[in-house]
Amino acid sequence: MPIASVNPATGETLETFEPLDAAGLEQRLARAEEAFRAYRTTSFAHRAGLLRRAADLLDEDRETVARTMTEEMGKPLAAARAEAAKCAKAMRWYAENAEALLADEHPLPADVADAGAARAYVRYRPLGVVLAVMPWNFPFWQVVRFAAPALMAGNVGLLKHASNVPRTAVALEELFRRAGFPEGCFQTLLIGSGAVEGVVRDRRVAAVTLTGSEPAGRAVAAAAADEVKKAVLELGGSDPYVVLPSADLDAAVATAVTARAQNNGQSCIAAKRFIVHAAVYDRFTEAFTVRMRALRVGDPMDEATEVGPLASRQGREDIAELVEDARKHGAGVECGGRRPEGLDAGWFYEPTVLTGITPQMRIHQEETFGPVATVYRVADLDEAVALANDTPFGLSSNVWTEDPAEQDRFVRDIQAGGVFFNGMTASHPALPFGGVKRSGFGRELSGHGIREFCNVTTVWIA
Ligand code: NAP
Repeated sequence: MPIASVNPATGETLETFEPLDAAGLEQRLARAEEAFRAYRTTSFAHRAGLLRRAADLLDEDRETVARTMTEEMGKPLAAARAEAAKCAKAMRWYAENAEALLADEHPLPADVADAGAARAYVRYRPLGVVLAVMPWNFPFWQVVRFAAPALMAGNVGLLKHASNVPRTAVALEELFRRAGFPEGCFQTLLIGSGAVEGVVRDRRVAAVTLTGSEPAGRAVAAAAADEVKKAVLELGGSDPYVVLPSADLDAAVATAVTARAQNNGQSCIAAKRFIVHAAVYDRFTEAFTVRMRALRVGDPMDEATEVGPLASRQGREDIAELVEDARKHGAGVECGGRRPEGLDAGWFYEPTVLTGITPQMRIHQEETFGPVATVYRVADLDEAVALANDTPFGLSSNVWTEDPAEQDRFVRDIQAGGVFFNGMTASHPALPFGGVKRSGFGRELSGHGIREFCNVTTVWIA
């Protein structure tokens, strides 16, 4: 894939970029190693000052940054602004909390009395140069979610961003540089995916984090494992959205639309499979379909637009194929299932609701990365839990019920990294984020996220 900024609302190529040559890549790797040598010894207060400055700059630049994102990957402008604001908030959160999250741990003297030490404690030290391989769907947030804790921990970052968001990638490097981070602390590598393995294997790179698809995760984690390097994987999801009879149905329907259509349907934690109890199935499906059909699809720069284009032509083809396959095998198309009329230039697809899903349809097992919802009818709680878990993925989940016993059942049995009751999944700096099964391993955000790229060092003093 060429490294190019292409407006998905028009198909127009805005700018192309030459990938880094071998010498340019070598220079950046050397710079990162050099930067780490000094940066690792800086204080939390110093790092926090730099990160707060980055947050302030991002707030000042919000409109420009938002327009860059929208032009490159098509999310509605208001959502792009919200993403930039969320990044600044996460930066401030880590600036405020990193020192406490990484404070030395002192086991109780009685617990280590037989260890032969007069004193023992645990220190979280930075690992070194961390490579971040990132996707285009939340092009600022995914990166900041890695960079803010990594930089606060004393690591330095190398960003290999998705090839369709190079302007955003360059803007991120500039942001950290303007905030005062020393040269080499955060660098963008304009390289294609074929060059990633070499970077993972480079002796100067200590660890890697990848957010993206399963094939990309598998390739990067395999190289990291071969080099015995730490990897964190945040991969795809096919989150269930379970609606049980005690739910506030109006709220469940309204949130379901947002949870599915956010980011033009291209979110790993979007609700994708709607699993509805028979007692409320008809009412839910009808109201959900009405609202999905009513979503305004169009130019993402237009403030009235609710759903913009898919980020690439390939992305739209993938979605259209999944829908066709389901239709061919007998699925009901309640709304959508085609390109919208009058929007021929960009890669638009109508918000779609499918019913009558059966296991032989591809859509039953694969991730739908676009505004397409599947709705299932279940007879009881057991069937809902079983269906919710009947997926290779395990990122997050959403359950609508007022019944504490039903909630406990899901907390116990759901195979996912999160369960959100009576609301939709969202990430927050103070809460861990990540999945199980084919959604990956490791966690981002919170104390769990910042400790992923630390050397958990035992200090023993006789
Ligand atoms: P993608 O094709 O896997 O790309 C993600 C990143 O990996 C890009 O930088 C890409 O570079 C790189 N890449 C692709 N193949 C690679 C390989 N074989 N070796 C090394 N690097 C490789 O994913 P995407 O289409 O951008 O994003 C969509 C996927 O990301 C969905 O499955 C979504 O669910 C997942 N996602 C997960 C999370 C989460 O937190 N769990 C969040 C957002 C998205 P190029 O662009 O140069 O190919």
